[in-house]
Amino acid sequence: MQSLWNKKEASGVESDIALRVYTSQLLGRDHTLVLHGGGNTSVKVSATNIVGETEELLYVKGSGWDLETIAEAGFSPVRIAHVLKLAKLEKLSDPQMMNELSTSMTRAGAPAPSVETILHAILPYKFVDHTHADAVLAITNTPDGGQRIREIYGKDCVIIPYVMPGFDLARLCAQKFATESHGGTVGMVLMNHGIFSFGATAHESYERMIELVGRAEAYLAAHKAWQLPAPQSAPADRTLRLDICSLRRAISDSAGMSMLLLTDGTPKALSYACHPDIGVISQQGPATPDHVLRTKRVPMHGRDVAAYARAYEDYFKRNAPKAKQPKTMLDPAPRVVIDQEFGLGYAGRTTKDAAIVRDLYTQTIDIILRATSLGGWSALPEADIFDVEYWDLEQAKIKKAGASPAFAGEVALVTGAASGIGNACVEALLRRGAAVIGVDINPGIAKIFSDRTDFLGLCCDITSAQAVANALETGVRAFGGIDMLLLNAGIFPGGRRIDSLQDNEWRQVMQVNLDANLILMRECHPLLKLAPRGGRLVIIGSKNVPAPGPGAGAYSASKAALTQLARVAALEWGADGIRVNTVHPNAVFDTGIWTDDVLAARAKHYGLSVEEYKTNNVLKTEVTSRDVAELAAEMCGALFAKTTGAQVPVDGGNDRVI
Ligand code: ZN
Repeated sequence: MQSLWNKKEASGVESDIALRVYTSQLLGRDHTLVLHGGGNTSVKVSATNIVGETEELLYVKGSGWDLETIAEAGFSPVRIAHVLKLAKLEKLSDPQMMNELSTSMTRAGAPAPSVETILHAILPYKFVDHTHADAVLAITNTPDGGQRIREIYGKDCVIIPYVMPGFDLARLCAQKFATESHGGTVGMVLMNHGIFSFGATAHESYERMIELVGRAEAYLAAHKAWQLPAPQSAPADRTLRLDICSLRRAISDSAGMSMLLLTDGTPKALSYACHPDIGVISQQGPATPDHVLRTKRVPMHGRDVAAYARAYEDYFKRNAPKAKQPKTMLDPAPRVVIDQEFGLGYAGRTTKDAAIVRDLYTQTIDIILRATSLGGWSALPEADIFDVEYWDLEQAKIKKAGASPAFAGEVALVTGAASGIGNACVEALLRRGAAVIGVDINPGIAKIFSDRTDFLGLCCDITSAQAVANALETGVRAFGGIDMLLLNAGIFPGGRRIDSLQDNEWRQVMQVNLDANLILMRECHPLLKLAPRGGRLVIIGSKNVPAPGPGAGAYSASKAALTQLARVAALEWGADGIRVNTVHPNAVFDTGIWTDDVLAARAKHYGLSVEEYKTNNVLKTEVTSRDVAELAAEMCGALFAKTTGAQVPVDGGNDRVI
């Protein structure tokens, strides 16, 4: 375990709170210590309030903040005097506790303080650091975990048996601390949960955390349980997209909402999925209880979603009656899937949620494998996990949850996505919460939106059936399926009359604007059929379909044939719940097709200036890519739920069309 303390970085940092922020970020940077909101830290300071009184305050990590990126605003300032009085109560429910903590803060608008606030307050040290260190969990989650932990830490740490986080844990720690701590106490281990370190300075407390976790790592190494087995890569040599789409459909149906399914076919994921004891080691429970809120208690091993859901309902029925308050069952769908062919799958409403599941479970694999090498992996009994999954505070959050974006949990594929209307469609769909696969012949597609996890850009020549199949395979493995297909890619080679139209130009236009779309429709049909809320196909047609102009024979004929193909698809696919609609834009000049030369030539053809040509419609308005994209996206949504086979112009009104 490496200390990340950097003298240079720390040199300008002076106040206790600023140092608290700095070392909290250091803990957060090491993902073997904490991940995604796990762990918490605090510092006790004196402050003068507005009426000149001195108050002792606890700055403790607020909920909704990650240690890795925490700022001062992420710490909740709580009056210690009141919290210490709370710690002396015989009983305090979690909602009462959170109310008392929130009303003891000195900054309105600060985040809700951590549920471990009382525990931080009673520990008699200025700085307190708490992590869910992998190495410590790999040791506590074994049959002789308690004995091993005592062997490692001796009298340096107070050791607390597992109790759910909250008031009861704080009380137990207070009791144990009163009898077992001494001048040399530097930390505290919470069995099956994590570890605390303390110090008079931020630096001391941080270095003690590194040293204590380092001891756990050294213990694992000494017992030949540190080195992980080298992953054996065994990727399936067949296409899996239909299997993945079917599985995602079943998971979505079970969850009662559309879900994304991110798959992980890395050697690590595949070799874990193919571990000879996977059926046993994966079914014990999470590494630390709060993972249950993201990963559910156990992954689904195999593809039988109905059996998984039945087992989940049984688990709920076994444990809910023992709870003090009546509980509302969460959806019974898995969040982690273990599959020998595709590796691991992570389900979530958004790519962000699914990626959190992935990060937590990837870390859990190491913990499980090390604990297995040490003497056997054993997680907490299911009743303890149930208490965390269904505690009052989490149940309250479910009731408060607002509406999701229109396309949450759904996936769209857009062709010609690197520029113009295609690019605007990507943006319109992302704004509505969809994950988007953008394909384009321009390799630059891989770099656009590269800061987003909900966009996958694939360079693909859509006239090649093999390239399309490869793109679909990659896209489905990334997000789990395809719900919406937006066929936008097209070429417009410029004005040429029939008497000079050459075969090769005609064929090229037909190949891109028509044949490629047949390939995409044919290959996507079985995937769209499995869309949890019904598949949707939107064709970007052209005004030239209802009102062709001279000099664009190949283009107009290709778009007319495509429109006719879409009408047939609407008839053929209606029974599969797939809606097919077409938009006919006109004179959209912020697209790749409209180079300045083409624009000038067309304007001249009609005897207009470029400006007049741009707004040459009934409404005298310019039509932009965004206007077209918004209509195309809406055609995938609730507004058009009962519409298929429609052709809607988006052209500012064209007298020949009207
Ligand atoms: Zn914790």
